[in-house]
Amino acid sequence: MISIKTPEEIKILREGGRRLATVLYKIRDMVAPGVSTKELDTYAEKLIRKMGDTPAFLNYRPAGARNPFPATLCTSVNEEVVHGIPNANKILKEGDIISIDLGLQHKGLFTDMALTVPVGAVSNSSLKLLKVTEQALQTGINAICAGARVGDISYAIESFVRPHRYGIVEVLSGHGVGRAIHEDPYIPNFGQKGKGEKLVAGMVIAIEPMLNNGTKNVILAKDGYTYRTADGKKSAHFEHTVLITEDGAEILTKT
Ligand code: MG
Repeated sequence: MISIKTPEEIKILREGGRRLATVLYKIRDMVAPGVSTKELDTYAEKLIRKMGDTPAFLNYRPAGARNPFPATLCTSVNEEVVHGIPNANKILKEGDIISIDLGLQHKGLFTDMALTVPVGAVSNSSLKLLKVTEQALQTGINAICAGARVGDISYAIESFVRPHRYGIVEVLSGHGVGRAIHEDPYIPNFGQKGKGEKLVAGMVIAIEPMLNNGTKNVILAKDGYTYRTADGKKSAHFEHTVLITEDGAEILTKT
C-alpha cells in the first residue's frame, strides 16, 4: 500500500533528509586512496549516532535475506553495483569509483540517499558514467508532479540514458520510503509513460538509477548482498529521497 505522509511526518522527513545528506557528504569527503570501506562505515555510524539518530540499514533484513545487513553504509566499488558490505581489507585505490548508499532513521521515519564518488583521479569514461547517472536521477525527479505516474519517471530516466548506451539495471529499482526503508511503490528505471501508480502530493519516494558501463545484467555475490555487473564493467548509482508536491517534487536529502 502506498502511504501519504502527514504534514508532521513531512517535517520530520525533511529534517531527517537534511541530516542524512550532511552525513553522506562528510563520507564523500573522506573518500581517498588508502581508505578502507570499513573506515567509511565506522565514520557514518558515528556521525549518525552522535545526532541521536539510527542507521537504517544496520541489521535490516530484506525479505528473503538469510542474514541481516551487517553495516551502516553500503559501499560498492567499481563493478559492484549496490549493497556492497564494508570491509577493513577493501582499500580504495586511485582510479576506483565507489557508490556510498546510506539510510537514516530520524524520529522513527526513514530517508535514503546514495552517490558515487571518484577515488582520486579517474578515467574520463568513469567521470562520464558518474555524470550521466547523476543527470539520470535529476531527469527522473524533473518528471515528477502530482497526477503523473510512476511510469513517467521510469520513462524519463530510460529515454535520457538510452543514447549513452549504458546498461540500465532492471532487477533493482527505486521505492517508496518514509515509514519503512522500503515501501510501495517500486520505481523502475525503465518503463512506459502513463503506466503505473499515480503520484499524489504527500507521497515520498526514493529514486535511484543504477547504470553500468556495459551489460545491464548483474550477479548477486555469495555474501547474499553485493550485486556486481555480469561483465565486470563499472557501475554507478545516485539516489535521492523526494517528496511529491502539487506542482513538482522536493528533494528531501539535501543540506
Ligand atoms: Mg534505496
